[in-house]
Amino acid sequence: MEMRNIALLGSTGSIGTNTLEVIARNRDRFRLVGLAAGESKELIEEQVREFAPEIVSVKNKEDAEALKAKFPGLKVYYSGEGLLETVSHPAVDTMVSAIDGTTALEATLLSIRNNHRICLANKETLVAAGELINRELARSRAEIIPIDSEQSAIFQAIGHNSKDAVKRIILTASGGPFFKEKKENFKRITVKQALAHPTWSMGAKVTIDSATLMNKALEVIEAFYLFRLNPEQIEVIIHPQSIIHSMVEYIDTSILAQLSLPDMRLPILYSLSYPERVPFETETLNFSELRKLEFFDVDRETFPSIRMAYDVLKTGKSSGAVFNAANETAVDYFLKGNILFSDIFAVVEEMFYNETFRSVETIEEINEIIRHTKEKTAGVIERRFGNENNM
Ligand code: MG
Repeated sequence: MEMRNIALLGSTGSIGTNTLEVIARNRDRFRLVGLAAGESKELIEEQVREFAPEIVSVKNKEDAEALKAKFPGLKVYYSGEGLLETVSHPAVDTMVSAIDGTTALEATLLSIRNNHRICLANKETLVAAGELINRELARSRAEIIPIDSEQSAIFQAIGHNSKDAVKRIILTASGGPFFKEKKENFKRITVKQALAHPTWSMGAKVTIDSATLMNKALEVIEAFYLFRLNPEQIEVIIHPQSIIHSMVEYIDTSILAQLSLPDMRLPILYSLSYPERVPFETETLNFSELRKLEFFDVDRETFPSIRMAYDVLKTGKSSGAVFNAANETAVDYFLKGNILFSDIFAVVEEMFYNETFRSVETIEEINEIIRHTKEKTAGVIERRFGNENNM
């Protein structure tokens, strides 16, 4: 296997630290060339000491100067431009996208133009800009290998089979903590309850998205652009044990699934090592201890997130960007205690079903739509809930 030279965007988050662990265990295969992170100064310093990257980008100028003073040989940049600088380092051939927000979008486009392998953990990229990304990919030698556990499972189960042989893909969802809850109880769900995910340990935003099934909705959209199937070929099933990470049914009715204990290091490793497999020492799945694998249908009335995902696929254009940005804003307000859990759905639905969508040609247009949607969503929230919750 050739050495992979990696730019890791979002090195201090959950995907980022897991990626570094995978790199640390495979230093003969993976080399960290650059990292980009936010404001976790101590952790960034620790990572620089351990992995000796050539280039680092942090959030602000002061932190960049402090880091430069400590590591004189290191190239240090800051802000969104610094992040793009990191992706542009000539030694980089592989980019891990584990940051949130629209900067990830710009970084991905840059990586596509640089013919990188893009190990994609950021969902916004394909949800907000799937059409644009696929157009750019068609003109480049770049490839996207998904890190998301469900997309990785489908990617692995499809393998070298032709797309024409695929009948449907079945995305599994853990269901989060509330998939059996009655809709009328959603009002009483606290932030703390919503943050207690039964099987995966992740950042706050994605944990809330798992509880609302917005995360699965985003994955439906992501899968549509990644695997280029028809909306009717994409299904969702709740599987609380998170052992089957997703499945592919072929035209002959054979179903291939990918199974493992829930551990993000595995899809990260595969995204880096593909098409090869490399050994990984960890706890393995013990079938005799595995008592049951359960499956439940998603109630689309209780979880309108899933219904909206299919409406995004039907509509195309800017609808994915609007859907994602409205949800991001709503989750933000929920985490701050300003709206109720049930309001997340109400807010996103109000935004989504009252918007007219347009086709997007450039990243600037997408960024503008995201900015506008966030502003408008905040306005909707202030108007609907401002007085009662004393914002
Ligand atoms: Mg996932």
